[in-house]
Amino acid sequence: METMIADDMMHRFLLERAGVRGVLVRLGAAWRDVAARAEYPPQLHTLLGEAMAASAMLTGNIKLDGALSIELKSAGALRMLFAECNDQGRLRGLARWDDPLPVTLALDELPEAIMAITIGNVERGQRYQGLVDLRHASLSDALENYFVQSEQLPARIVLAVNGEHAAALMLQKMPDEGGHDVVPDEDAWNRVVHLTSTLSAQELLETPPEQLLYRLYHEESVSLSEPRPLAFGCSCSRERVSAMLRSLGRDEVEAALAARDDEIEVICEFCAQRYYFDRIDAEHLLSESAALGAPDTEQ
Ligand SMILES: [Zn+2]
Repeated sequence: METMIADDMMHRFLLERAGVRGVLVRLGAAWRDVAARAEYPPQLHTLLGEAMAASAMLTGNIKLDGALSIELKSAGALRMLFAECNDQGRLRGLARWDDPLPVTLALDELPEAIMAITIGNVERGQRYQGLVDLRHASLSDALENYFVQSEQLPARIVLAVNGEHAAALMLQKMPDEGGHDVVPDEDAWNRVVHLTSTLSAQELLETPPEQLLYRLYHEESVSLSEPRPLAFGCSCSRERVSAMLRSLGRDEVEAALAARDDEIEVICEFCAQRYYFDRIDAEHLLSESAALGAPDTEQ
């Protein structure tokens, strides 16, 4: 419990007596780096921060090879939102919108909205995608429901964001193992949910994680795993940008060359890295096997 606390860490924990496992993520600089890349309106700033913290949180209890992303698209003023955490703990995210945005961004009120969670390895084409039911106003409720549906176990998710931090807490009831002499504690889950409901957004954002878990759950025997560091980081590369250009096809690539003096400039929206392609590069990439394919939002 006396470990020095740092931002940008994921903590996995067990409440042994209650048979509950959890993940607590608190982002600092990793969140501020993403938030600073656009003048996000406050309500979108909050939703993007929640999605960032949630993307890291959702990697906590899975064996991840590649990345986990949360992607939202709608036909309304909030056009898209994307948050991703990879297996190295690198996070990135962005949102696109048209002004004016609705004052509250209730997920269940976004027109023709769709939210997908994608897990896997883009390069190897091994991806699992699940759709999140958007009949919930908040991201935490929508993700909680997603978890219950996909894992058939009760879950509780709390998300909070301010200008400095984005935080996520997830609790999940562990499956009853049976066969032990331990008397099942039927009230344990309810007790943990009740304790969690006393947590304010401010507390979640401002209390060092170890202290927070101990304060909330000390009677449930908290055991913490070694924290996992998180950081802002982009997985863009010249190869991925080439694949994106290839997927646009020859006509668009020719048009892009013509528009800018025989040079294509691609600026990564996540990290502002610039990539340049001249006519020779373009010919080269167009002639490569199209079988490589390209995902639509990844660069
Ligand atoms: Zn990038």
